[in-house]
Amino acid sequence: MTIQTAQRDRTRMDINLLDRASPDNAALHSTAMSRIEIITIGDELIDGRLVDTNAGELSARLTDLGFRATEHRSVGDDMGGMIEALRTAADRADAILVSGGLGPTGDDLTAVAAAAAFGLEIERSTEALEHTRRFFTERGREMPPNNEKQADLPAGSTVLPNPEGTAVGFRLDAGSCRLYFMPGVPRELRRMAEESVLPDLKDRLAATPPMVATIKLFGKGESEVAHLLDGIESGVPDGTDLIVQYRATFPEIHVRLVVESRDRSAAAAVLDDLVEDARQRLGHHVFAVGGPRLDTDYPAFAATTLADAGMTLAAAEIASAGSVAKMLGSSDPGRRCLRGSLVAADLGVLRDQLRPAGVSAEAVAEAVRLRFGSSIGVATFGSAEATGDDRPGTLTVAATGPGGTRSRELYFPIDHDRFQRLAAYAALRLAVGISRI
Ligand code: ATP
Ligand code: MG
Repeated sequence: MTIQTAQRDRTRMDINLLDRASPDNAALHSTAMSRIEIITIGDELIDGRLVDTNAGELSARLTDLGFRATEHRSVGDDMGGMIEALRTAADRADAILVSGGLGPTGDDLTAVAAAAAFGLEIERSTEALEHTRRFFTERGREMPPNNEKQADLPAGSTVLPNPEGTAVGFRLDAGSCRLYFMPGVPRELRRMAEESVLPDLKDRLAATPPMVATIKLFGKGESEVAHLLDGIESGVPDGTDLIVQYRATFPEIHVRLVVESRDRSAAAAVLDDLVEDARQRLGHHVFAVGGPRLDTDYPAFAATTLADAGMTLAAAEIASAGSVAKMLGSSDPGRRCLRGSLVAADLGVLRDQLRPAGVSAEAVAEAVRLRFGSSIGVATFGSAEATGDDRPGTLTVAATGPGGTRSRELYFPIDHDRFQRLAAYAALRLAVGISRI
């Protein structure tokens, strides 16, 4: 599919970003993919000392290769829990990736738990012992006796080399499921996954990379977007699966359409139709449409649009506290477009600096435009806290330029960071709206 930026009328502004969708916002319609589960082991994952980055990294790599992790589960260093988790997963999965608990210490129980889960003996593996011993001798050290324990593996295991550490990994089959056991240390796990686990997985299981489109919007809440896309799956033919995923990156909403089918060209055609349908439903709030790694955000889109239209911009920023300048300043087109920004604590300061012909946001936008000699001027008034007679969260934005003058009042009782961000987004949106009339 083509990557493109939406061309549409942006004069209307309908911001309703406060409502949130329920967590249950992915509509899954059956799937024909391999079932791959990830189990991470360690008390520190359960009690909050450690964030489980291994599961995330493994999942991301699986996705890159056209697989998908169907479940993540973490269990503590507890024999009963590990046995139960391994058995449950092996009953239903095609493959299981396990991280952690292969070390030489008393709390590293994974190999014993794996043997117990599948009724296997524990045997000392000469290959594994050699590996660990070599690891020490290559570094001019003697192997401490308790490291021998790392060579005790379930009978029938295949050793997975660990070039980065003392503990070998291993793999074993339980029924039709293959289990891969890797160390918890991220550097060791990463290398073992790349060199031993993922290649084996690719040989055994058919990868079916899904076709993915990303649609980015600004100006609608997540649940409203979900509502507009209700029923979009009804046109998906049999044998093709659609997953609709939502992600809120305030104040943007990102929708991913994921289409899975054994027939990739059919999937591509289905995805194109779905994207078209979604664009119709979502209308002018869409600012970018592309593939799985679409990285354009709204400020980048606005900067490109303004720069392409040959516009320059100056801002008077109370509500946005310099965010308009910062957002434009972070891209080449934005830097080309930005003439200047005046950040002020309140209207009094702006009036002293700009001497506008009035107190309105429009008047200040015009004054800052004249001050910096830009084609567009924008102004953001308001604060996340109460100012004067205004309730906390009252936001006024205005823009003036060749396409006319426009202003907008919004009410968003949110924290300062998000308020400032929203103010800058709203100002950029008005600027885009008046940049080409
Ligand atoms: P070791 O030989 O170091 O004991 P191991 O295979 O027994 O390796 P663990 O003891 O479970 O692995 O974990 C070792 C270290 O690796 C942890 O202290 C932690 O820093 C890191 N680690 C373990 N699991 C994870 C995880 N899921 N995500 C991120 N880091 C992890
Ligand atoms: Mg350990």
